[in-house]
Amino acid sequence: MCVKILIITDVETKYIFVTGGVVSSLGKGIISSSLACLLKARGYRVTIQKFDPYINIDPGTLNPYEHGECYVTVDGHEADLDLGHYERFTNVHTTRANNVTTGRIYQSVIDKERRGDYLGKTVQIIPHITDEIKRNVKLLGQTGNFDFIITEIGGTVGDIESLPYLESVRQLRWELGKNALCIHLTYVPYIRAAKELKTKPTQHSVKQLQEVGIQPDVLVLRTEREIPSAMRKKIAQFCNVAPDAVIQSVDVPSIYEVPIKMHEQHLDEIVLNKMDVPVNGEPDMHQWMHFLDKLHRADKTVTIGLVGKYVELQDAYKSINEALLHAATYNDHKLDLRYIHSEKLNESNVKELLRGLDGVIVAPGFGQRGIDGKFVALKYTRENDIPTFGICLGMQCMVIEFARDVLGLPDANSVEMNINTPDNVIDLMEEQKNISNMGGTMRLGAYDCHLAADSKAAKAYGTTDIKERHRHRYEFNNDYRERFEAAGMRCVGENPASHLVEVVELPDKRWFIGTQYHPEYSSTVLSPAPLFVDFVKAAIEYHEAENLENVAECNA
Ligand code: GLN
Repeated sequence: MCVKILIITDVETKYIFVTGGVVSSLGKGIISSSLACLLKARGYRVTIQKFDPYINIDPGTLNPYEHGECYVTVDGHEADLDLGHYERFTNVHTTRANNVTTGRIYQSVIDKERRGDYLGKTVQIIPHITDEIKRNVKLLGQTGNFDFIITEIGGTVGDIESLPYLESVRQLRWELGKNALCIHLTYVPYIRAAKELKTKPTQHSVKQLQEVGIQPDVLVLRTEREIPSAMRKKIAQFCNVAPDAVIQSVDVPSIYEVPIKMHEQHLDEIVLNKMDVPVNGEPDMHQWMHFLDKLHRADKTVTIGLVGKYVELQDAYKSINEALLHAATYNDHKLDLRYIHSEKLNESNVKELLRGLDGVIVAPGFGQRGIDGKFVALKYTRENDIPTFGICLGMQCMVIEFARDVLGLPDANSVEMNINTPDNVIDLMEEQKNISNMGGTMRLGAYDCHLAADSKAAKAYGTTDIKERHRHRYEFNNDYRERFEAAGMRCVGENPASHLVEVVELPDKRWFIGTQYHPEYSSTVLSPAPLFVDFVKAAIEYHEAENLENVAECNA
């Protein structure tokens, strides 16, 4: 891809809406992120926001089985996991304003009604809810910080709960004229028995959109197989869309190839042209291509095990998966990520289930279920000096397991698991003690952390002062700190203001580090998380030093 000098023209804020039809899970988030990535590589200031049609105020109280991982923004918002994609593709932080739910819209309207803002009026979906949606859509645009605001509308066209959003998009398109554009993502299934791709679901989905008054400008067709150009022309004709604006999104091995595939079909240029923005040269994708090049060239494999209880659902650990992939790629290795169900791990099968792993991650989480398997895994990796990374609950488990086995405190625990534990090495944070509401009340968002200069963690970051994102209620109990340090577990990272312990490590092991924070949230394609890169590097070194063979996946 050739690189030309970018000329940024003065543009008014442009609003791009991304809707989806036919089925869910088509990857609206990836298409939105890919377009944002291309526009950013053209020098524009871009952000992506997601409007979710459910009633919860945020996904923080949702079980991962319901909604996958809960992502956390730097300003402490518990957000939809698509915001993770937005950050990974654009390298730009999102905030609370980037994720709005129906619950938040209604809460704001009801608060206004109680204040008397609508005095004398009947409060209705149209115009009050739709006005509130429109106000929220434009919030980030009004900061003056962005040239393009991409708005992903959650759900699928035709859902009852999506209707107020679509009505708002319809009105905004009318009000914003050339400064608004609608991209509709649909599905073109391949019917194996008939050996045919089928366009009818797409036609129906566009018709549904047209029925609510929205004419899409661009169609992106998600498909398993190449869609012949004659078929795309037919779709263009039936759907009133320009033939060059019917783009296919064929399955690719990595989501990070999607921006390139979209650019090959000129998605960025089509959008700019339609919005009357001059197309100057080509996007500067050389750093992105460098990553893809490494991804494609890697021929050796690093095998990492993830011990957690939501292993049936890969979206539950989305940011960890992606951070590991970034780290493996920058270490010139392919990633073989194996999920190990913590509920199935026990002393008699641990050796077998962790066989062939170059490194082990113990996952974040909540509650008692699966916790014993985490302790078993940690004892095994500690005693066998296998590179180990504990994240949030994983770090807390490192502390508990060490207290039980090395400090000789057999009943040590977190008060989350046992309120009456005699050795509360993990305790409820002071400021959490009077909290009764579950939603949005954890220690959330980015906090400062100071690292001991001689720690492995500081070496990995290349600095002693960092800021990482948190999502927890419990913490390392500083009353036990001296005993841990004397026995060899160092508290090498702490918050300078509160002295909360943020990082522990075992310096005499190859790589045994636990973080109370979640470094995975800040790993992006262009800026991988340093601790993940260092952990994977240690795993590769362990593999080479021990002359380990790549073992085929067992029954984990
Ligand atoms: N359950 C633990 C706490 O609330 C850890 C949370 C997590 O892993 N995100 O402190």
